[in-house]
Amino acid sequence: MSEARAAADAAAATVLVVGAGPVGLLVAARLLLLGVPTRVVERRAAPGSGSRAIGVHPPGLVALASVGADADVLAAGVRIVEGRAFGAHGELGSLRFDGDTPVLAVPQALSEAALCAALERAGGSVERGVTLTGLRRGAAGRLEATLLGADEAFVDAAVVIGCDGSGSSVRTLAGIGWRGGAYRDRYLMADLPDVSGLGARAEIRLHRAGLLESFPLPGGWRRVVVRVPDEPAVVATDRGDETAGGPSRSAGVDPCVAARVCALAAERGGERYDADAARMTSAFGIERRLATRFVLGRVALAGDAAHVLSPIGGQGMNLGWLDAVALAEGVARGLERGPGALRTELEAYGQRRRRAAQAAAWRADVNTRLGRPVGPLGARLRDAVLVRALRAPFDRALTGAFTMRGLA
Ligand SMILES: Cc1cc2nc3c(=O)[nH]c(=O)nc-3n(C[C@H](O)[C@H](O)[C@H](O)COP(=O)(O)OP(=O)(O)OC[C@H]3O[C@@H](n4cnc5c(N)ncnc54)[C@H](O)[C@@H]3O)c2cc1C
Repeated sequence: MSEARAAADAAAATVLVVGAGPVGLLVAARLLLLGVPTRVVERRAAPGSGSRAIGVHPPGLVALASVGADADVLAAGVRIVEGRAFGAHGELGSLRFDGDTPVLAVPQALSEAALCAALERAGGSVERGVTLTGLRRGAAGRLEATLLGADEAFVDAAVVIGCDGSGSSVRTLAGIGWRGGAYRDRYLMADLPDVSGLGARAEIRLHRAGLLESFPLPGGWRRVVVRVPDEPAVVATDRGDETAGGPSRSAGVDPCVAARVCALAAERGGERYDADAARMTSAFGIERRLATRFVLGRVALAGDAAHVLSPIGGQGMNLGWLDAVALAEGVARGLERGPGALRTELEAYGQRRRRAAQAAAWRADVNTRLGRPVGPLGARLRDAVLVRALRAPFDRALTGAFTMRGLA
């Protein structure tokens, strides 16, 4: 795109998307495909290379298909065919993920790269190194945004969409509340060469001392996650710029974390991984938070700006993608039909997606609690319940919960 054309498009932008994480990229690409002039600003100078999300669920894949990013994500990922669960006293059962819409493991950076390519195909691009610092009501119901690092400091927009993550400036500047808090649970994770022989299967071990889970990754790697024991003496070190509720996005290896992950994995019945070969480690705490509203006037929130779930169960990004599609389609319809229709569409989006976020947060909460350390009696009870839950006819409901059925 020529500079003159980019400047003209920027001036005409109707929607300003703040944040080019996986959710901002999808909402911007979808808006552009629906014919809505859209501008997307991102404070980071370069895309993140670290890895948080890996799980891509069937509804998330459908959302990606709405901007043509599904083929790239399918090509980049590993299809998880089965999840096996172990309790304190052996195997509990398994769930098969072999329908038409697969469950994938794809490092978040690859999903974001696929979405960047989709955004460019739709005629857009990310303005990097640009930070939203102010937001106020302008003329005729429009909004005026202050941007640091952009050519022009003030931008006029009909709608501002905050996809700027859990610390959202859009949410704060709009005065929207943020409820919830941190869990006491802490986790370590590492990407390690796959010596498990498990292939495309995921494994979850509900050991009495805490959760161990492992997932296949592309290229012969495995993501191993362990819940850290509660004693204060084993508070984890972290390699990067950990923020509340999430790990660093920058890839890096802390040898202490890698060694601890491998030791805890072996203790809890997992494989013997080689800590020296880790290519990424992270230590993180988790949060459960929900914006008091997803929409206020012409300001809308999507993704982690609106909701943060426990990542145990891996659904936060997928939930954000579902927000993104619903919001883009609502905004496009509203802008076409007039201000009254836009208000109605935005309100409907806010109410519907907030209910979905509450349901997803509840499921993630159950997953998190199941992975906590338990005594001998608690372990027997937990195992007995899960053995039944993993058998027909209950296994279908459980598969649905793990694959985000009902959250679109
Ligand atoms: C360990 C871990 C594992 C996870 N695993 C999964 C999983 O398997 N599956 C899943 O679905 N989810 C998972 N998640 C959750 C997932 O990572 C998040 O839900 C997802 O990244 C949220 O995307 P987002 O685009 O809403 O926000 P973010 O990814 O946080 O992106 C926000 C962007 O906004 C930018 N920004 C912030 N403020 C401004 C500003 N003022 N101006 C301009 N730009 C700004 C930031 O730089 C950033 O790039 C996991 C999370 C963690 C912590």
